[in-house]
Parts: sequence; structure tokens; C-alpha cells
Amino acid sequence: MKIAIPREQRPDEARVAASPETVKKLINLGFEVSVETGAGLGAAITDEAYSAAGATITPDATVAFGEADVIAKVRRPLPDEMKGLKSGALLISIVDPFRAGDELKPLQDAGITAFAMDLIPRITRAQSMDVLSSQSNLAGYKAVLDGASVYGSAFPMMMTAAGTVPPAKVLVMGAGVAGLQAIATAKRLGAVVSATDVRPAAKEQVESLGGTFVAVEDEEFKQAETSGGYAKEMSLEYQKKQAELIAATIKKMDMVITTALIPGRPAPKLVSAEMVASMKPGSVIVDLAVETGGNCELSEPGQVVEKDGVKIVGYTNVPARLAADASALYARNLYNFVELLVDKEAKALAIDWEDQIVADTCIVRDGKLVHPALAPKEA
Ligand code: NAD
Repeated sequence: MKIAIPREQRPDEARVAASPETVKKLINLGFEVSVETGAGLGAAITDEAYSAAGATITPDATVAFGEADVIAKVRRPLPDEMKGLKSGALLISIVDPFRAGDELKPLQDAGITAFAMDLIPRITRAQSMDVLSSQSNLAGYKAVLDGASVYGSAFPMMMTAAGTVPPAKVLVMGAGVAGLQAIATAKRLGAVVSATDVRPAAKEQVESLGGTFVAVEDEEFKQAETSGGYAKEMSLEYQKKQAELIAATIKKMDMVITTALIPGRPAPKLVSAEMVASMKPGSVIVDLAVETGGNCELSEPGQVVEKDGVKIVGYTNVPARLAADASALYARNLYNFVELLVDKEAKALAIDWEDQIVADTCIVRDGKLVHPALAPKEA
């Protein structure tokens, strides 16, 4: 079995899909591992480190990867990267399938089988493969540091001979994996933290981290969690009540970190231009949802913009801003998934298509779009 680790081609991508640790584990599993030269540099992993772990360093990706049975990547390949892949090869990456549009076509044309790591089900058995969690956790941490770096004041209360510096007041909107890490990080830096969510389960989690929970806790809120643990899109009536509560809360805040998402839908708009104008000059908003439309009406992808004296941070691909840790965790998630596809005795690929983890993540099988949420409906 041959596995290839290409250098990522998207301009904002610094992560890599394997680490020296997972290269060794893949070799133990029975793989020959090729790594494209320079693939790990964005994550501070040298070619020498991969070589020492047993990988072959490949200068020309297209030649070595044409022979690979498995191609392991961080992000969905660009159409050009699909050229020369062996028909029937397995591609494993984050695919972002609901926003991929035409970019799913080359996966089908190449006659390969593609698995989306971002569709790993949130079940106990798959926790070690859960890239949404490993990457969101880092993004939540980094969002607070990104906010702190453009905030002109300190986070902790400081009592000095020259007077007292008050602690920063931080509001975290959306208390999922990223939001909970943002709460913990802001607390560690000394801020006074509050948080909001539409799922009742979030209340206890926010409070256990020392945050104050702020939410419209009506009948709709009590039903807002899907069986999969995600948030539902809320009614217009709820959105109105929520907007009133946020408007009253946000003007007292120094920093707002937004992380609210609804799977497969645009991000809910939670912070209006009017709310931004009501905030104190010098305050900061960090919008982690900027790539799915943004939680703040004024955030711009890849930009730090200033409106009414408020800085709005809209960095994209925030996990890649911590590429070393993000790669180490992603590589382990991916290794754990590959392990599921291999017969360890025979040292050969042996895919159980009935396995829920396999079925939920497989989007293209032998060139055919098969995922129920993506496949064309039968007439
Ligand atoms: P997510 O990234 O989909 O969304 C982030 C947060 O935004 C969620 O907490 C969501 O409730 C919240 N949100 C959505 N709409 C909102 C609105 N209008 N206002 C305020 N908040 C809003 O969520 P996630 O971080 O992927 O976590 C989703 C769920 O999955 C959570 O219940 C989490 O505990 C659970 N989870 C389970 C496992 C597992 O069992 N293996 C692993 C990770 C996460």
C-alpha cells in the first residue's frame, strides 16, 4: 500500500496531513509513505524529519502520487491537483462539500473515492478522528489571542501604583467547541467572560468554565438542539428577542468573539451594524464564522476592518494560524481514520462500507457522488 502526502496548494493553508509521528505509524500499518518536498514547512516540519521517520521525499508530486493508493491532504484538492491520480485511489481530506460547488466535479471525473474528514460523525467511537473538534478548539484559542493583539487595553485587572486597570469584558457568542475554548482562554487571560448560545446544554458548560450565560431561555430555546447535538436555525420571533438581548449586552463589552454556526446553512447574523455602532470605541469583534457569511454584518473575510472605532477581525482559516499544533492533531485524526480502512493482519486496504464512519464520510465512490446529502435525487 502506498500513501502520498502532498504539499497543500491553497494560498492560506500552512497545515500538512501527516507528522513524523503518524508517518511512523502509517509505516507500521503497512504503508510506503511519500511526502512532497516542503510539505511540512508551514508547520515547522522539515523534509529531514519526515525522512528520519521513514518517508520518501518526493520532488515531483505528480509522478509519485500517480502511484499512490491513498492521498492524504488537509484541504480539498484544487482541480489541477487531481490530474494524474490513479483511478480507484482513495483521497482523504477536509472537503467542505456543501460549499464546494463545481470543485466536486474533478473528484468524480478522476474516478477516485473521496472521504470528507469534516463529515466524521460526532459519535463516541469516532472522537479520535473528529477534525471539526480538533481544529475548532485551536481556532477558539487563537481567536482570543488575535483579538487581544489588536485590543489597545489589557485583559486582566491590574492594581498598580499608578491606578487600577479594569479587567476586559468578553462576550462569546456560540458555545460549541470553539466557543468553549475561547471562554477558557479569555478567563485564563483574566477577562470577565459571558457567553450565549441557543442550545440549553451550553448553559452548564459555560458556567462550569466560570462564564455567565446570557440567552433568551424560552420554549423554543428548550427545543433548539437537534438529535445530532447541533443548533437549529431559530424562528424570526426568536431572532428578534435574541437581537434585543444582544443589543443590550454588547454595548457593555470590550471584546466579542463570535463562533455561531448551523451545519449546511449560512452563519446566523447576530451582530448588526447598529450594534457595532453602540459599542465603545477601542472594542474588538473577532468573527470566527466569517467564511460562512459571518456572525457580524460588517466583518470581511481575511481583513481587520475598523467601523465606528471598533476593530472587526475576520481572519479566515484560523486553525492554519497555529499550523504546528493544528497539523499534529489533524495528522492523528487522519491516521485514526486510515487505520479503520486497513486490515492489520493482511496489511491491505479492507473497507467496511457498512461502517457508519465510512458511510457518513464517503462522498464520492469510484467517481460517483454517493453521499445522501449530495447525490443527485433519483427521478
Ligand atoms: P458548531 O460549530 O456547529 O456551532 C457553534 C455553536 O454555535 C454551537 O454551540 C451552536 O449551538 C451555536 N449557535 C448556532 N446558532 C446560534 C445562534 N443563533 N445564537 C447563538 N449560538 C448559536 O458547533 P460545534 O462546536 O461543532 O458543536 C456542536 C455540538 O456537537 C455541541 O453540542 C458539541 O458538544 C457536540 N460535539 C460532540 C462531539 C462528540 O460527541 N464526539 C464532539 C464535538 C462536539
